[in-house]
Amino acid sequence: MTMIERLKEFLDSAHSVYHGVAALEKMLLADGYTPLNEGEDWQLNPGGKYYLIRGGSAILAFRLPQTAPKRFMITASHSDRPCFKVKENGVLTGAYTRLGAERYGGMLIAPWLDRPLSVAGRVLVQTETGAQSRLVDFDRDLLLIPNVAIHMNRSANDGYKWNPATDTIPLLGDKASADKFKEELETLAGGKILGHDLYLYVRQKASVWGAQNEFISAAALDDLECAWACTQGFLQAEETENIPVLCVFDSEEVGSSSRQGAASDLLASAISRICDGLRLEQSQMLSRSFLVSADNAHAIHPNHPELADAANAPVMNEGVVLKFNANQRYTTDGVSAAIFRVVCQKANVPVQTYCNRGDMAGGSTLGNISLSQVAVLSADIGLPQLAMHSCYETAGVKDVAYLADAMAVFYNARLEISPDGSFRLQ
Ligand code: ZN
Repeated sequence: MTMIERLKEFLDSAHSVYHGVAALEKMLLADGYTPLNEGEDWQLNPGGKYYLIRGGSAILAFRLPQTAPKRFMITASHSDRPCFKVKENGVLTGAYTRLGAERYGGMLIAPWLDRPLSVAGRVLVQTETGAQSRLVDFDRDLLLIPNVAIHMNRSANDGYKWNPATDTIPLLGDKASADKFKEELETLAGGKILGHDLYLYVRQKASVWGAQNEFISAAALDDLECAWACTQGFLQAEETENIPVLCVFDSEEVGSSSRQGAASDLLASAISRICDGLRLEQSQMLSRSFLVSADNAHAIHPNHPELADAANAPVMNEGVVLKFNANQRYTTDGVSAAIFRVVCQKANVPVQTYCNRGDMAGGSTLGNISLSQVAVLSADIGLPQLAMHSCYETAGVKDVAYLADAMAVFYNARLEISPDGSFRLQ
């Protein structure tokens, strides 16, 4: 299978944040990683490969060298995407049966309409002694959010303000379907459901297209494309004096402040436990460490080039993007940019730059939020894409391979940083 076929397979299996993390876990297990439980003691051995999952939707993996570790080399990306979450008591009756769903994150609404949708996520199924957490996926065309006809909304093409309380409620079935959702969900889950975190997803599969098959479109390229490429680099990295750490956080699209988001202690706590377990001096380790925050970037738009900063406008298929922002929404500075550029030189990977147009606020990401928990040198990067936060986004086929190659070099890098920012990278 080519790299792009493997990426497509991953994207097509990641129908919810839980399914995405489960797919990453499968890759780690296949490579010999051992699960750790945060509620138990950790027996960490030199050469050991470990991972932990928090909340079912964030995953952190690391590998210990045989020799004395010198530094952490960390990547952080995110598992969540803007979408709709099924409400409690979601089934609505009337002329038809509808399924109430709430917006999660800052989405583009229009692309969700008039296309088949389904539902996937996690449920808590009652057992004799409590409940069991299980993943569920309806995995069939189940719902659709219908547009209003142009005859009833003549101004639909003049810019329309969507009302989330009325415009975006998916149609589930006819009058007689009121009980069907619960019935099918309980059949899929195998019992009575005590709690759920269920999300809508679009049924359209990932697609490679274009005059030379140069583009890939799929749901959740932001940020599963980076999460997947970082995982590839992580799995390829060789034995060095580094502790490579792969973090994929949840909740980035809603500000990162959940128990499994970048604002939580997930990374900080894992680092302390590793340092305690191996008797490493944590402050010294962190001062030698580096974090790459990998979250997709806006490519210059074919129809709206004026929305990009004229001198820092990334193009799809032309390389990994280093992101800059004077107000620290992106953590990249002169030193971390230079380090990342040397990494990419060694990997033979082109680097592009991104800045917001001066009069646009742009988005935020998880780099600066991670640093509030673990203060290390850091760069914000991403892959160039179009239609960010649409339910079907577009990126360049070449760029994902570029990032995987760059991350493999990054995880192996012997980085020595002086207090003034001068560095050696071998
Ligand atoms: Zn993102």
